[in-house]
Amino acid sequence: MNSKTIMAFGAHPDDLEMTCGGTLIKLKQQGHRVICCDMTEGELGTRGTIETRKKECAVASKIMGIDARENLSLEDGFISSSKENKFKVIQVIRKYKPDLIMVHYYKDRHPDHYNTSHLVYESTFLAGLSRIDTGQEHHRVAKILYYIGWVEFKPTFIVDITDQFKQKIRSIYAYETQVKSKDPSYPQTRLTSKEHQWKILSRNKHYGSLIGKKYGEPFLLKGYMEVKDVTKLSFLSL
Ligand SMILES: [Zn+2]
Repeated sequence: MNSKTIMAFGAHPDDLEMTCGGTLIKLKQQGHRVICCDMTEGELGTRGTIETRKKECAVASKIMGIDARENLSLEDGFISSSKENKFKVIQVIRKYKPDLIMVHYYKDRHPDHYNTSHLVYESTFLAGLSRIDTGQEHHRVAKILYYIGWVEFKPTFIVDITDQFKQKIRSIYAYETQVKSKDPSYPQTRLTSKEHQWKILSRNKHYGSLIGKKYGEPFLLKGYMEVKDVTKLSFLSL
């Protein structure tokens, strides 16, 4: 099998699990190499500490079965496309040499999310320029996929995650301090609310229903997708 390397970038530890976690688990099960990279340690989070979040992230990564997880330790709440930040992203892209990159949709309510999207897009481009010297070989990535966050988009395609859904939910619940309401020493947040749990469930059900499956995760790509063999397309006729 032709194994590929997929790199997924998220602003905060737990973003990837909640958005494209099912697809990452599926890619791993299909024999690909999956690398996750968090931009910040989530130090502005209302609940938990950097230390608890690190431990929870390690558990979640294990549940997803991914190959490696990086954290670039950018400043939570203030992610920008500074030259310094771009160099950090370029270096991690050149380290793993991905075939495909996944990142937040470029429209979102959280500034860290859309700023991560812009930062990763620009750094992906720059990682391919040989005259930007990081002491590493330059690396060109042609493919960037955007996963869904707060703002809806019309998906380019939807991945069936029915068989991975339970594992995805387990990886989200590994972030105990963030999503479980039982610890009264921290205030309750949107993430600990029943509504948020319903949002993840109903969203994955909604996108699954559009392709005739139980659960699905939507993706957007800028530009157009080439189809090599039309008879292998899988879709519901309308
Ligand atoms: Zn986030």
